[in-house]
Amino acid sequence: MDIVFSEVEYRYMQGTPFEKVALKDLSITIPSGSFTAVIGHTGSGKSTFIQHINGLLRPSAGSVKVGSFEMKAGKKKQDVRELRKEVGLVFQYPEHQLFEETVEKDICFGPINFGLPKEKASRRAKELLPLVGLEEEVLASSPFQLSGGQMRRVAIAGVLAIEPSVLVLDEPAASLDPEGRQQMMSLFYEYHQRNKTTTVLVTHHMEDAAKYADQIIVFHEGRVEMVGGRELIFEHAQRLNEIGLDVPKSVRFLHNFQERFHLHEVPMSFEMKE
Ligand code: ADP
Repeated sequence: MDIVFSEVEYRYMQGTPFEKVALKDLSITIPSGSFTAVIGHTGSGKSTFIQHINGLLRPSAGSVKVGSFEMKAGKKKQDVRELRKEVGLVFQYPEHQLFEETVEKDICFGPINFGLPKEKASRRAKELLPLVGLEEEVLASSPFQLSGGQMRRVAIAGVLAIEPSVLVLDEPAASLDPEGRQQMMSLFYEYHQRNKTTTVLVTHHMEDAAKYADQIIVFHEGRVEMVGGRELIFEHAQRLNEIGLDVPKSVRFLHNFQERFHLHEVPMSFEMKE
């Protein structure tokens, strides 16, 4: 489903002396089935932007449409349950949101809450385990007995278990080592390829944006500064630098490699080293 932002503005603490305009004049479309990377310096509005996609925030002006679900400024409180069935959001450090006694119960929490019978939810949980790189034995364990990396995989399985048509990822590989980050990103990329899920990735890593995204949105001071394909990162490296985004040499190397060999897709095993 397409996601369409039309002239969106968002103000935190509206009407108080602390009012802060976090998004201004934002009109953008995220096409159905695309892999979109959202980049920008800290405080540029990325997180405020993505929280509009599942209705955690509603626009102070303008409108946001996710498929046929529309959120408009000024509209009274809306039931966002239907939207939440379609939009899965993986927060930073999703492992902090685990709370059930067992891994199975945690993964099944979302689907059961949205009305899926228990047995079907359990089947989904089992099917998801290999995809997120976990063994079936963990199902009966307490999530709190697992390692940090495994806990994160459980939390991600819990989001994928609702089979969202839109997957929003806020720095899902934060704090992982290079190998862990590569594994995590491959997981999401393969899931995206297989299910044609509209994927929105917030990242500080230009490599990940250059490697996986087919659309890149650059935020700067609450506005969209640029939108384009992954070549945007190479072609506007200097401007990105000016607004606080570092484009490492490895990314330029990747671009040359792609150009020279006419590659549109990067082999998943491609390693980028500084
Ligand atoms: P990013 O995700 O790019 O770091 P944010 O969307 O978190 O940016 O923040 C955009 C702006 O909104 C920043 O100036 C930030 O200080 C402000 N902001 C974010 N959350 C809040 C909040 N809960 N209350 C007030 N201001 C906020």
